Amino acid sequence: MDKKDICSYTYMELQEEMQNFGEKSFRARQIYEWLHVKLVENFDEMTNLSRDLRRRLWENYEIRKLSVAERQISKKDPTEKYLFELWDGNLVESVLMKYSYGNSVCISSQAGCRMGCKFCASTIGGLARNLNVSEMLGQIYRIQKLIGERISNIVVMGTGEPLDNYDNFLKFIQIISDEHGLHISQRNITVSTCGIVPNMKRLAQERLQITLALSLHGSTQEKRRRLMPVADKYQLSEVLAACDYYFRKTGRRVTFEYSLVQGVNDTDEDARELALILGGRNCHMNLIPVNQIKERDFQKPCRKNTLDFKNKLEHHKINVTIRRERGSDIDGACGQLRRRHTISKKEN
Ligand code: SAH
Repeated sequence: MDKKDICSYTYMELQEEMQNFGEKSFRARQIYEWLHVKLVENFDEMTNLSRDLRRRLWENYEIRKLSVAERQISKKDPTEKYLFELWDGNLVESVLMKYSYGNSVCISSQAGCRMGCKFCASTIGGLARNLNVSEMLGQIYRIQKLIGERISNIVVMGTGEPLDNYDNFLKFIQIISDEHGLHISQRNITVSTCGIVPNMKRLAQERLQITLALSLHGSTQEKRRRLMPVADKYQLSEVLAACDYYFRKTGRRVTFEYSLVQGVNDTDEDARELALILGGRNCHMNLIPVNQIKERDFQKPCRKNTLDFKNKLEHHKINVTIRRERGSDIDGACGQLRRRHTISKKEN
C-alpha cells in the first residue's frame, strides 16, 4: 500500500487521523508542529514521540520532499528563483522576493497550465498535473529552510491556475495560515485567477481573508477573448460580478491585474473602457508590462507609454500601480525557467 502524504492533512484532519491510528489527540499537535513549524523532513527528528510511534508513522506515512534542481540569485535586486523537482520528475518554479516588510514567495499551483493565455510561458506545454497540498507547502518550507528566514507573504501567481486545483489550494491556505503551523496571516496571501467564476464564488464563501487578484487583461469581452481562451467560457460581466461578490462577502478589496501588451491592450480606448467597467469599484489595479517570451511576439510597451496608460487610469480615479520588475536577469517571466528545463529534458 502507498504511504500517505502526511503534510497534506489540515490540523483537524490530522487530529482525526491520529485518533483512528490509536493515538491521543495531543500527538497530532506535536506532529503538526514538527511538520509545519520546525519543518523536519524525517520522522526520526520528532524526538518527543516514542520510538515505537515514530516507527509506525514511518511505516504508514511519508514526508514528501522537493529537491532543488536550480537556484538563480539575481544580481540586480534581492530576488531568487527556484526550480524544484517533484517525486515524479515534474518541475515547478517559485520566486523569493525580499522586501523591507518581509520575505514574499510566489508559488506554483500546478505543473503546467491548461488555461492557454496567449502571452504566458507556463501554458505552452499544457497541464502536466495538479500539485498536491504538500507540494505547494513544500515550495515555501524549502525556501524558508534554505535562507534561514521567515516567509511572511505568499502570492499564488506562479505556474498554474489555483482555482483549477481548488480543493488542494484551499487546504494549502488552511494549513499555511493555521495557528498551529507557520501561521502566515491570510491578509498576507494573494491568489491570482484567470477568472473561473464558479470557484471564485465558492472561495468567497470560505470565510477567508486572502486577497483575490483577477487577471483582467482586456477591457471588453471581445478584447479579453483575444488574449485569454477562458473568456470563451465566462463572460466579462459574470467575472466582474464574481469579483463584486467576493468583495461583499469578505470585505477584501479585489486587485485587477492587467498585462500591458503594446498595440494590443494599451490604447486610449482601452483606458477609457477600463474606467467604464471598473469605475466606482473599491479596487486596485496592477499593471504588468508584458514579459516577452521567445515563443510569442508580444511586445512590452516602452516605459513612457506604460506611465501614460497609468496616468489615464488615474485621471479616471482608478487606484493603479505598475508592478515593479524583479529578477529580470533570471528568467523573470512566469514559467520561463521551468519551460527552459522541460525543453532541455526532452532533447536529452
Ligand atoms: N493562473 C493565474 C496565475 C497566473 S500568473 C492567473 O491567470 O491569474 C500571475 C499573473 O501573471 C497573471 O495575471 C498572468 O496573466 C500574468 N502573466 C503571465 N505571463 C505573463 C507575461 N509573460 N507577462 C506579463 N504577465 C504575465
